[in-house]
Amino acid sequence: MAATGSGLPGPTPLDRGKVEGGTVTLPNWRGEADRPSPPPPAPLPPGERVGFALAGLGRLTLEELLPAFAECKTARPVALVSGSPEKAKVVAAQHGIKESSVYSYDDFDRIADNPEVQVVYVVLPNGLHRDFVIRAAKAGKHVMCEKPMANSSQEARDMIAACKQAGVRLMVAYRCQYEPYNREVIQRVRSGDMGAARIIEATNTQVMGPGDQWRFRKALAGGGALPDIGLYCLNTARAITGEEPVEVFARIFNPQGDDRYREVEETIAFMLRFPSGTMANCSSSYGAHESKDLRVRLEKGWIDLENAFAYEGQQMRVAQRGGKAEVIDTVRMPQQNQFSLEIDHMAACVKENRVPRTPGEEGLQDHHLMEALYRSAETGTPVSLAPVSGRDTTRGPEPSQQG
Ligand code: NDP
Repeated sequence: MAATGSGLPGPTPLDRGKVEGGTVTLPNWRGEADRPSPPPPAPLPPGERVGFALAGLGRLTLEELLPAFAECKTARPVALVSGSPEKAKVVAAQHGIKESSVYSYDDFDRIADNPEVQVVYVVLPNGLHRDFVIRAAKAGKHVMCEKPMANSSQEARDMIAACKQAGVRLMVAYRCQYEPYNREVIQRVRSGDMGAARIIEATNTQVMGPGDQWRFRKALAGGGALPDIGLYCLNTARAITGEEPVEVFARIFNPQGDDRYREVEETIAFMLRFPSGTMANCSSSYGAHESKDLRVRLEKGWIDLENAFAYEGQQMRVAQRGGKAEVIDTVRMPQQNQFSLEIDHMAACVKENRVPRTPGEEGLQDHHLMEALYRSAETGTPVSLAPVSGRDTTRGPEPSQQG
């Protein structure tokens, strides 16, 4: 034991831990019956991390993404793109970003000359995604783009083509596909241990305030509740089944006399039928109290994920037969920031030159399906879709817990 100079006993090997293979390890100090604590994070030194430029300093960037970089191990913010110079100056100073690495939308293309920037993360209103993804690709930068990928499947195709032509990676930020509880649901359903999934129920609702904002303008948002929050229900149903719907049906409701819903929908309910027979009942609204839940009903049990699509607060319960009883287990997983996980995934893909788990093709498929859902709502009839084979060939491998 090394003396601390205080006259008190120094740390034991259990207290101190050791350095192994370049990282610090701390031995398990808990009893066998308790879960061991996860190992200390092993972030790369800042100079070795992948540099990100964030385009658009709105709520998502300021409230979630920039704070999440503090928990990233492979990524760091090095540049900002904003139409508000005063705001950008304050944010740059807060995060140690050089003033020379702050760009306006007009001079954004100069980012090509900034070697610190490897990825541009587009966090602008949806109607601006296409142009900024294409400009980032032309500047030779890899691109991460917020969901929904664009305003239409045609825009999504343009974005994929531009990134392909420039030889850069494109990832759509489907954070739930990196969130540990959602991953656990996907893994449990796909393992087949609980039999076939018959019904998926997914809800994503929230109440919008009265003020004017880009989410009510079709040119900027592409649509209303569906592309903004209903998309989580759609994308998650696809991720759980690992299949593509062969038939979809939707109904839309807009409250009369509410100017906010002149251009975009307030409420949508939709159904997806998958080739294996699984059916998904999804609903999304800008006018119903916050509720972001997922349920999967399988042959041998059910899985319930409360707050499935929220930033935090996931609560998972699994019901199965246990002898003569119905056993309902609560599953608790270590807390991890889903934004940090997805950003680190993109950084790892850049470092290792691999396809992200949610590439542009993943966003394009959701746009095809959303267009079919709007067609169905317009005509009041179900829309059949051609079976898609080999969907997973467009996607990268599963992210590891760390990656
Ligand atoms: P905000 O309205 O909070 O911010 C948008 C920012 O974009 C503005 O502050 C502004 O930043 C910039 N901007 C540039 N042009 C316009 C314009 N014409 N109208 C409005 N804003 C403009 O949006 P969010 O941060 O909530 O959303 C941004 C993107 O992130 C969207 O694609 C959205 O779907 C997605 N999102 C994803 C979430 C997720 O959980 N993954 C959650 C929330 C949003 P500046 O002043 O710097 O120019």
